[in-house]
Amino acid sequence: MRILLLSDIHANLEALEACLAAAPSFDLAVNLGDIVGYGASPNEVTVRSRELGKVFVRGNHDKAATGLIDLEDFNPMAAAAAIWTRDTLTSENLEWLRALPKGPRILDGLPDVQMVHGSPVDEDEYVVSLGDALVPLITLTVPLTFFGHTHLQGGFFAGAAAADGFRPEYRTVGQAESVALQLKPETRYLINPGSVGQPRDGDWRAAFALFDTDAQVVHFHRTPYNLKDAQDRIHAANLPSRLATRLAAGR
Ligand code: ZN
Repeated sequence: MRILLLSDIHANLEALEACLAAAPSFDLAVNLGDIVGYGASPNEVTVRSRELGKVFVRGNHDKAATGLIDLEDFNPMAAAAAIWTRDTLTSENLEWLRALPKGPRILDGLPDVQMVHGSPVDEDEYVVSLGDALVPLITLTVPLTFFGHTHLQGGFFAGAAAADGFRPEYRTVGQAESVALQLKPETRYLINPGSVGQPRDGDWRAAFALFDTDAQVVHFHRTPYNLKDAQDRIHAANLPSRLATRLAAGR
């Protein structure tokens, strides 16, 4: 089976469409949360996600935009975007987002794979460093976890001899590219497909991944997208302009 992994779309329709156009064929789409928040197309992205996916976990921005959590822990820019998103979503999309399940979730028929937004031990925790990853890697009973939340493509592994972090290494800064990671037996992984719509690893291109369960290969992808249109929509919506400018830097 080939599983398309999408995370942290953040209401960026242009980035989502570019990922779908660039994605090789797949059998199942999995969405790791933060469908909305920051970007200016929450309804379009929610509808597209609903059509596309069968497996979802909720993200903190999905919870914030639908009133499941208060905005205390959000910085002013994220809070402003969450309030705008709440006001902009149709009631149908709002209800659908509010009902998204909490992670981690195990996939039907694939007991060795789980999905979560933040960390397997806490859906809202950030797994940024190897230190953050070690406890889940050592204690997990599920060998492979796909996660999001950090907007950093790559991940962490722990085998018999070593534990480390990894990032896919790309050759260009502006073209569509993919990098393959062959999973090793007897090794546990935490893997982030990267953020579709709000990358934060210094690479402006939209990120996603495809997991081939038969070959045990994860293909990381980056694809350029129509940045200008995404930025124009953010300006037109009167969202904080930094939300538009930072898309160009991938920060
Ligand atoms: Zn996010």
